[in-house]
Amino acid sequence: MRFSKGTRPLAGVALASLLAACGHAPPMQTPAASTPNETASLQSADQPQQPLGADLVGAEVAALHQGFFTLDTHLDTPAFLVSLRGYDVMKRHRFFREGTQVDVPRMNEGGLDGGFWVIFTPQGALNEASYQSVRDVALQRSLAIHKMVAANPETFELATTAEDAIRINDAGKKVVFQSIENSYPIGEDLSLIETFYKLGVRMIGPVHSRNNQFADSSTDEPQWNGLSPLGKELVAEANRLGMVVDGSHASDAALEDMIELSATPVILSHSGTNAIYDHPRNVPDELLVKLAEKGGVIQMNALGRYLADVSDPSPERVAALQALTGKWPDPNALSEADYQTYLDERETLNRNFPPPNATFEDVMEQTLHALELLGPDHVGMGSDWDGGGGVIGFQDISYLPKVTASLLEAGYSAEDIEKIWSGNLLRVVKAAADHAAAQ
Ligand SMILES: [Zn+2]
Repeated sequence: MRFSKGTRPLAGVALASLLAACGHAPPMQTPAASTPNETASLQSADQPQQPLGADLVGAEVAALHQGFFTLDTHLDTPAFLVSLRGYDVMKRHRFFREGTQVDVPRMNEGGLDGGFWVIFTPQGALNEASYQSVRDVALQRSLAIHKMVAANPETFELATTAEDAIRINDAGKKVVFQSIENSYPIGEDLSLIETFYKLGVRMIGPVHSRNNQFADSSTDEPQWNGLSPLGKELVAEANRLGMVVDGSHASDAALEDMIELSATPVILSHSGTNAIYDHPRNVPDELLVKLAEKGGVIQMNALGRYLADVSDPSPERVAALQALTGKWPDPNALSEADYQTYLDERETLNRNFPPPNATFEDVMEQTLHALELLGPDHVGMGSDWDGGGGVIGFQDISYLPKVTASLLEAGYSAEDIEKIWSGNLLRVVKAAADHAAAQ
C-alpha cells in the first residue's frame, strides 16, 4: 500500500513566506576566522552576514534550514569522547584530518540541534563473563555522555522526553538523547534495561552486526529466525519503561517480530531501503510499509557501502596508507608535536587519494524513495555520523543543509521537512513514553 504523500509543491511559493512560516529566527553567524572551516567561506566585516551553510545551498535555503529543529538519531560520537586522542567536542575538527564528523562548531554550521548519542559496544562471546566486562564498557559510555553535558552546561542538555527536546532547543542548547546500539552488554539480566533507562536511555536496539542473545542480525546467518525468546522480553520491557525499540541492524525477520510485538512504533535509527540498493542492512519496501502502518519511522543512513557498490581503494591510496603507517606505527605514543605532524600528513593523504565512497546523491535517492513509499510522516535522518557514515559531498554534519535543499527541490513543504528533521522522531519518542505512563 502507499501512504498519502501530503506534500505541497513549492512552485510559486516564495521562500520568504516559508521562512515566516517556520517560526524560528535563523542564526546569522560568521564563522570565526581562527577556526578552519571547510564549508563556509570567511566573510569580511563590510559584507552582509550570511546564515551558516549559505555557501552550500544559498542564503535563503540556509536560513530556512537553520530555522528547522534538526535531530539525527545516530551520533556515534561518544566513542570519541572516551578514546580519541585530542578530541574536544567544543572544538572544530576536520574529517580528513582527525576522522571525526561531529562537534559543536560543525553542529552550528550544519544546523544540527542534537539527537540520539549512541552507547555502542562491540560484541564478544555470548557468556556471563563477557557480558559483565562489556556491561561496564556500556555504562562508561553513558557516563561519558553525562560528563560531556555536565562539562558544557551552556551548550548541551540531556533530554529524556519529546517535551525536554523542544524546551532545550528553544533555550538554544543542543539536545542530548541517549540510545543503546547492541543490547549485548545487558547479558541475560533484563533488569539492566531499567538501569540504563534511569541513566536516561530512551532508545534500544537489540542487535548489531552479529547474532546475539536477543535477535538475529541482518548481517549474520539466521539462528533464531527473528527475535529470541529473550529478545521478545526485551521488547516488552522497553515498552513497559517507555523506550523506543530500534530495528536497525536486526534481520528482516527480527524487525518484523519487533513491529508485531511492540506496543509502540518501532524506529529504524539508521537504515536504508533495499529497493534502491540491495544490501542486508537495507530494508525491503513491504517491511517499511508494515513499520509505517504502525506509526514507525525510518531514519536514513549515509554509510557508503550500504548505498552503492563502493570500489576498492586505489593502489595509490593503499601505498600512501602503508607509507604513513610505516612512518607512524603508533600515533597514540607520539609526542604532541609529532602527533600533529602525523595528522597533517594523514589529511594530505586523504585529500590527494580520497577513499572511494557513495555520494550525497545516493543518500537522497534512498531518502526520496522512502518518502515516496511512506510519506513525510515516516521518514527522518540518522546518518551514522562518527560510526562509518558520511559520503562524497556529505562527509560531516556541516553538510546537512544540502538535505533541506534537496527536499525543497523535490517539492516537500517546510512543514514536511520539519517533520522529517525532528517531528516524526519526537512523535515516536512521545508515543513510547505515553504508553509507559498509561500502564
Ligand atoms: Zn550501526
